[in-house]
Amino acid sequence: MNAPLHRLAEVAADPDAYVVAWKQSHPGRKVAGVLPMNFPEELLHAAGFLPVVIQENRDPDSDGRVILAEFYCGYTRNLADQAAKGKLDIYDTYFVADHCVQLLGAADVMRFKAPGTPIYFGQFIASMSEESTARKVRNEMEHIVGEVERGAGTPIDRERLAESIRLYNTDRRLLRMIFDARREGRIHLSGAQMQDLVKSSMVMDKAEHVALLEQLLTEGIAAGGSQARVKLHLSGHFCHAPKQELLDLIEDCGAMIVDDDLYHGRRYITTDVREDLDPIEALSTWYFDRNVNVPCPTRVQHDADWDTYLSNAVSESGADGVIVLMAKFCEPHMLLYPELRKMMDERDTPYLLIETEHEGLPMETIRTRIEALVERISRKATVAAAL
Ligand code: SF4
Repeated sequence: MNAPLHRLAEVAADPDAYVVAWKQSHPGRKVAGVLPMNFPEELLHAAGFLPVVIQENRDPDSDGRVILAEFYCGYTRNLADQAAKGKLDIYDTYFVADHCVQLLGAADVMRFKAPGTPIYFGQFIASMSEESTARKVRNEMEHIVGEVERGAGTPIDRERLAESIRLYNTDRRLLRMIFDARREGRIHLSGAQMQDLVKSSMVMDKAEHVALLEQLLTEGIAAGGSQARVKLHLSGHFCHAPKQELLDLIEDCGAMIVDDDLYHGRRYITTDVREDLDPIEALSTWYFDRNVNVPCPTRVQHDADWDTYLSNAVSESGADGVIVLMAKFCEPHMLLYPELRKMMDERDTPYLLIETEHEGLPMETIRTRIEALVERISRKATVAAAL
């Protein structure tokens, strides 16, 4: 593994160590823990924070197990566990801009367990097609700006915000170059390595991340993988990263991941913030644009839906099938899944649903199911070739 990939993987594997080291090397600076998936991190960057999307950790849940009900998703239950164990004390403050009930439950636990750590809330309207939506989003963005300024204790300079937007756009653009090259079969990085690229972006100082991506692109990435493998699109998995052993297992079963719409994947990097608008207006526009580019079932929009997006993405990448990764008890995903299934049945795209949990994935059972999917796709291709 080359040096930049190694560094990005190291940060993705232990975000807490990165945060602690960053604080030591930046005395007086604050780290803001951000809850996924819609907070405009550029505001925090411009206000002088290191914004870090708080990641699920690898520890088994123990102290926090009894705080949230069993039917909360693995990410929120793990957040509660991290809060109960004091693991989130590395953050100076928390910011939330989403309204998922489970996420708000976890935020309440964080507030309860760390009463001295300020937590700032915003809530963007989820109904995207109302006449009043644009005004409400703009008002909420102004409210969030006020919350960030309150947290930082200083106003956000508009020119600095424009610079932060440019920096974040650069990072997203570089990541998209790599994602597009994978989709077109020009490079080969494993699913776990692709995840490292995005997860490290959620954690690291953006300028440092951009420098590593530039170095990676300059040094070059290995050429495309075997075209003989079954090509898969990975879909879903909000808020937290799928376990890397699951991604490895998919590839072990003879598949190649060519594209995805995971939050720790394309969903996080697809939409830039416009640089030709007033920065606050541009961030409001970004909230709309990203739900068009990769629609999310936590939002309702008449002219953008995830099933159409997924169908188009599969056509574009030439994926032979789809694996839907769903965090167990993720209500928005569960509600929309029947639509995805209907679309995949209609276009005769083989698919498999895998539910994930924080602990105890039945890997051998999952292996058998993935192997069956790969086998089904291979037979379908053999039959099609014989006709
Ligand atoms: S994974 Fe799903 S249920 Fe859990 S916080 Fe995210 S959107 Fe909510």
